[in-house]
Amino acid sequence: MISQKLHNAINAQINAELWSAYLYLAMSLDAEAKGYKGFANWFYIQFQEEQAHARIFMNYLNSRDAKVELLPIEGVPASWDSVLDMYRHTLEHEKKVTSLINNLAAIADEDRDFASINRLVWFIDEQVEEEESARDMIAAVEAVEGNKYGMYMLDKEQAARVYNVPSPLATSAE
Ligand code: MG
Repeated sequence: MISQKLHNAINAQINAELWSAYLYLAMSLDAEAKGYKGFANWFYIQFQEEQAHARIFMNYLNSRDAKVELLPIEGVPASWDSVLDMYRHTLEHEKKVTSLINNLAAIADEDRDFASINRLVWFIDEQVEEEESARDMIAAVEAVEGNKYGMYMLDKEQAARVYNVPSPLATSAE
């Protein structure tokens, strides 16, 4: 049995992942409004990934016979000053998500709930990647910001990013 404390915390995390999805969807729409279809694609893929993260946690609670409770999703900003600002916000947001995931792992550790720890390890690794990719994008945008041709080329490059189904969903009978 999963503890009530961890059950509640994972329910809250499902909401946080859906809020993240909503945040990146807003960034995607704002990037598109600013004329950057490639960055819009990058953020749209983030939006898809965050929905997948929520789904992974939902599947996990279901598999532990713990009911998912969907909570209201709070509003998100509608616009950012620049693409650089979006990626800086992305990094700050992902750092917060990392601390939420660490908190879940700490509860699972207290509970000696090894199945939950095992599931959370995937998310711990994923957060390392999320923070790294945000930092990489900040560095890339900083390198060309103010240069229209540079921004054009970088935007074009981001149009090529493709969504890959995260491995916990790809291997499940989803
Ligand atoms: Mg996430």
